[in-house]
Amino acid sequence: MMYVGVLTMGWSNMERILVVEDEAEISEFIELYLKKERYEVAISQMGSQALELAGSFQPNLIILDIMLPDMDGLEVCLKLRNVTNVPILFVSCKGDEMDKIVGLSMGGDDYITKPFSPRELIARVKAHLRRTKMPQNEIAAGRNVDDAILRFEGLEINPVSREVKVNGEIIRLSSTEFELLHKLSKQPNRVFPQLQLYDQIWGEYHAGDTRTLMVHISNLRKKIEKDPVLPQYIITVRGAGYKFLGVPFSQETTH
Ligand code: CA
Repeated sequence: MMYVGVLTMGWSNMERILVVEDEAEISEFIELYLKKERYEVAISQMGSQALELAGSFQPNLIILDIMLPDMDGLEVCLKLRNVTNVPILFVSCKGDEMDKIVGLSMGGDDYITKPFSPRELIARVKAHLRRTKMPQNEIAAGRNVDDAILRFEGLEINPVSREVKVNGEIIRLSSTEFELLHKLSKQPNRVFPQLQLYDQIWGEYHAGDTRTLMVHISNLRKKIEKDPVLPQYIITVRGAGYKFLGVPFSQETTH
């Protein structure tokens, strides 16, 4: 019996995607294109089932519809964030900005509006998966350029465990929030133009959508800043972009 597990693990090195969508036509369409790209797919029509599958299926990425029969997709996202920090890509027919902002503030990483092309969906899925895989790939390749723990006064960022501590307490960040913080804090005081930051985090397919970036920055500030209105770590440089300011941690300055 032991071998079954081992063989399954060896065979199943495909990345797993959980699709939470109640309209069969759409979920079948998404499944078809994901399988063409050799992803393993699980479909859930209900929010409650999606929460169970997040544990048992261990997806690497979740595609989440906003309008579900039993729960609001936004509520599902909030609950998912208690158990997983993998990318969550919202799918909805509602295209207005309000929903997009609400979705991202509930811990979502991205938002795609129906109807979308398979190419657009796959591009985003790939961009998010590539982004979350990056640190492990570098470690596997024997490069340790990006895995140093960054320590600042009141803030610690560990790219290997992907944990962030604020005043010694672990806080929960979405994978996008983590990437943003890590990217900025690796090079303190360097100004990152919005478009450059956006392209580096989301990939070329998302160029131009700086509104999304602003929402993520705002959410990140709420989690790490003492006063998000007067941020100490993530500073807006008017007309230029964002930069990270942090006092490097040293034992001597602690009392
Ligand atoms: Ca729906």
